[in-house]
Amino acid sequence: MAQQPTPWSSQHARGGELELIRSVQGRSQHHGRSVTLGIGDDCAILQPPAGHELLVTTDMSLETRHFLREVHPARSVGHRCLARGLSDLAAMGAKPLAAFLSLALPAGMRRNARGRAWVDGFLDGLLALAHVTGTTLAGGDTAAAPGEQVIADIVLTGSAPQDTSLRRSGARAGDLLYVTGALGGAAAELAALQKYPRQFRDAGAAGDHPHLFPQPRLRTGWVLRSRKLAAAAIDVSDGLSTDLHHLCSASGVGAVVRAAALPVHPLARDEKDDGLALALHGGEDYELLFAARPSVRMPKRAGGVPVHCIGRLTRAKDILLQRDGRTEPLPAAGWEHAL
Ligand code: ADP
Ligand code: MG
Repeated sequence: MAQQPTPWSSQHARGGELELIRSVQGRSQHHGRSVTLGIGDDCAILQPPAGHELLVTTDMSLETRHFLREVHPARSVGHRCLARGLSDLAAMGAKPLAAFLSLALPAGMRRNARGRAWVDGFLDGLLALAHVTGTTLAGGDTAAAPGEQVIADIVLTGSAPQDTSLRRSGARAGDLLYVTGALGGAAAELAALQKYPRQFRDAGAAGDHPHLFPQPRLRTGWVLRSRKLAAAAIDVSDGLSTDLHHLCSASGVGAVVRAAALPVHPLARDEKDDGLALALHGGEDYELLFAARPSVRMPKRAGGVPVHCIGRLTRAKDILLQRDGRTEPLPAAGWEHAL
């Protein structure tokens, strides 16, 4: 009787895996000089620029939790997978060096045309963003998923000049609070996507798609750090309210946010209350929230993105919202990672 292939030793599974690795290897491009050795050996070799420290961040993208294969275009899933880690590097003022992608795909997926097209689309989206941000895909791992869902885990490394990386803990009472770009757009677009997924099938990174194709603020973060404009920073991944709580607790301060000063994304403005709830609590905008000393002359734009002053940090630890002449507590009510 023919022996049943076991998942961990199946020639077939390993064959598909090697084919996928070869295709990723063929498509990934080397950027800069920091990746001495990329895909193809047992380890990658990295050499950060002289005098730089190494920054590392990891993010999982889980089907049904972070994306729906029937709703999100595959390119968007690949783009978002990388964008989340790049946004963490941006928040610390670092430059991306290399990405490592661990992919678990349902066993049968690469045996049918639809599944293969999905994987290709995923890689297209991921590699396109890697290309424009100068990130080298330098390795990863590929395996058959135990169930029917895709799991993508990404590790990103970056670098910044020694001892200069922006932390959440650098803010002081009296600092001004700023945010880049616009808020609430990602949550608004996600709601529209869930209602009308077909309308988004051909969406691409070139358009303004705050949920499907968020733009990590790498240049802005680099400018804020290198020109010593920011004292502390965090990226807005869970929602402004929740991420502000993180920044304030790390710095041991409180905050007062002015509702009228929040840059609400046009997609969110159509919502009730003019999009204020989405701007405050909608997650995944991947903008930068940062604190700066009041003496800093803040430019109106940094790294090509508008910068808005939205409040200030206080000695009292409360986090407050001022609107219509009233001051009320601002709870951390960010979305529990939408999807
Ligand atoms: P090993 O068994 O030594 O871990 P693998 O056969 O898993 O090696 O991987 C071979 C090469 O392909 C390694 O350089 C690895 O980093 C790379 N690799 C494997 N899977 C991926 C992936 N999903 N994306 C990018 N690189 C990958
Ligand atoms: Mg491996």
